[in-house]
Amino acid sequence: MQRRELLKIAGASAALLGLPSVGIAKQTWSVDPFSLGIASGSPTSDSLVLWTRLGTPALEAAALTTKPVAVTWQLAHDEQFSRIAATGVVLATATLGHSVHAEVMGLEPGRAYFYRFIAGAAISTTGRTRTFPAPQAEVNRLRLAYASCQQWGNGYYSAYRHMLAENLDVVLFLGDYIYEYPSSRPLDVRPTTGGWITTLEGYRSRYALHKSDPDLQAIHAAYPWLVTWDDHEVQNDYAGTHEGLSGTPVENFMARRRAAYQAFYENMPVTRASFDKLLSGQGDEARVFSRVPYGRLATLYTLDDRQYRDLQACTPNGRAGSARVDPSNCASVNQPQRTLLGDAQERWLTQQFATSRSRWNVLGQQTLFGRRNYSTTGGQSLRNDGWDGYPAARRRLTDSMLQTRLGNPVILGGDIHENWVGHVLSDYNNPDCEAIGVEFCGTSITSLSSATPTQLAKQLENNPHFIFANAASRGYGVVELTPKQLTTTLVAVHDARDPASQAFVLAKFAVEAGRAEVNTL
Ligand code: FE
Ligand code: CA
Repeated sequence: MQRRELLKIAGASAALLGLPSVGIAKQTWSVDPFSLGIASGSPTSDSLVLWTRLGTPALEAAALTTKPVAVTWQLAHDEQFSRIAATGVVLATATLGHSVHAEVMGLEPGRAYFYRFIAGAAISTTGRTRTFPAPQAEVNRLRLAYASCQQWGNGYYSAYRHMLAENLDVVLFLGDYIYEYPSSRPLDVRPTTGGWITTLEGYRSRYALHKSDPDLQAIHAAYPWLVTWDDHEVQNDYAGTHEGLSGTPVENFMARRRAAYQAFYENMPVTRASFDKLLSGQGDEARVFSRVPYGRLATLYTLDDRQYRDLQACTPNGRAGSARVDPSNCASVNQPQRTLLGDAQERWLTQQFATSRSRWNVLGQQTLFGRRNYSTTGGQSLRNDGWDGYPAARRRLTDSMLQTRLGNPVILGGDIHENWVGHVLSDYNNPDCEAIGVEFCGTSITSLSSATPTQLAKQLENNPHFIFANAASRGYGVVELTPKQLTTTLVAVHDARDPASQAFVLAKFAVEAGRAEVNTL
């Protein structure tokens, strides 16, 4: 399509909406409007979401903060954009933080594309992305990275600079993209602007702060992302409709949650349909759980264990938030109706399991799945904010894997800022039961863990279904799947407080298809 035709379309759509047309050819910028970078995500075999959001400094300099701006997107077969596969114009509006979501449909499966955005005289950097293979395609390989927990002040995103070279098909982000905390000086290596965030404007600027990082921008531009969230995208330890514990309580927690969810939409390559109810004022819910096949080789699931969960059980003194509890002093933790995913998501997941014919079934969810007993003195001490606080829900999930004869379950997690590797048990009360899957809970990109090696060694001894734990390293994991084998490589940076840190392989594991057994390589 010719540039002149695009201009006509831009003008026409603005006119149709009764909005002032900000001429895409006329607008010049004294500040780069693409200062927050670009991204692609939510890949399927025939669609992708292309994302950008115009930076506030550029909008302010151009006196456009309250005005809509027409942004052209281009998806091409080549880096020169001489063979355009799809193009269009999106109006970036102040109502949605001047975010741009181009939902491109009708694409070819398993194909690499280049993309970019144009606003007036400004052209963004070029991103690379790819669609997934067709659901019935025989696929030999899938390489994905999983990452979580990128507290701004705790470190730099050097891990992402190393991830660039991993030759991935997709990045799975498992939560805590932002934290609602203020700076904690002198510990932090870089200042978090904006203090405690509780409002839409606050969440928007916190995302803008993160999106200003060049390593984060580069990894978004390099691969499509599949994303879910955890608590800190809203507030530490929040549980469904219940406020968590951090900062001063707000007057209306659900208004805060809506604002945070909207800001998540505005800053992530996700579909409008998933957030439509929320964005059109029809409800509080936003749907981030999803499932997408990668040929016959794998199905990737992203789960949401925050939005629909029951309150944590037995946190002392009626406080909100998390605690370590001993189930023998906490009858309510074992209540059979307790839910972490909510009824609708649980039912949906069981239906997906029942129809999956995939060789591997990879669940991207927030946190450690297997039981972790912290006690050093016998007895039990369990963290009530993760699956250990919802044992009946965990049992329903593993039962559903068994009943549907789910092929090769692989559970990926984050949240705890530590690497944990092990076997998924059908019954965590019976350490001798057979493993039904494998688990890789990833460490953080930057966020810190306070656990000592001695404590970790004791925890491994207490919980023999895990075979590896490490709390000292920041980094990410890479999972490579073939029809025969899974290989997981844990990559760590030497020092996340050093923006130029080198990386190393912390550990490597293999799982043969058909055997729920993790082997150290
Ligand atoms: Fe975290
Ligand atoms: Ca978390």
